[in-house]
Amino acid sequence: MALCLGTKRNGERCTASVEAPLTHCWWHDGKNSEQRKRAASRGGKSKPSRVSRDLHKLLEDLTARVVAGHLEPYPAAVAGQLVGVRLRLLEYERRVREQDELVGRLEELEEQIAAEKNSEGRRPWSA
Ligand SMILES: [Zn+2]
Repeated sequence: MALCLGTKRNGERCTASVEAPLTHCWWHDGKNSEQRKRAASRGGKSKPSRVSRDLHKLLEDLTARVVAGHLEPYPAAVAGQLVGVRLRLLEYERRVREQDELVGRLEELEEQIAAEKNSEGRRPWSA
């Protein structure tokens, strides 16, 4: 059993234990960098979605038409309500995505812990 050769973000040596022939833990293994990037980008740091841009355009258009007198206030109010409903739906979808990602990370951690427990059991000096 050896320690990961990686360095944590704060500059300290990583304390995760790794099994030979591995020299780095999952987080520091270069092979997983693409996966880590994908996990990070799923974490709410993405740029505005196409739907969000479409909603902006629709709201701008509705506002301009009401102000110019081309659209009656009543249909405009209904359109505003529908946009509000859609925003709540988007928020709901975002929460579901976030939850999925958290569950995925949790499962990874559980697998890591289980793997560490198994390797501890194989130590010749363990009780
Ligand atoms: Zn590490």
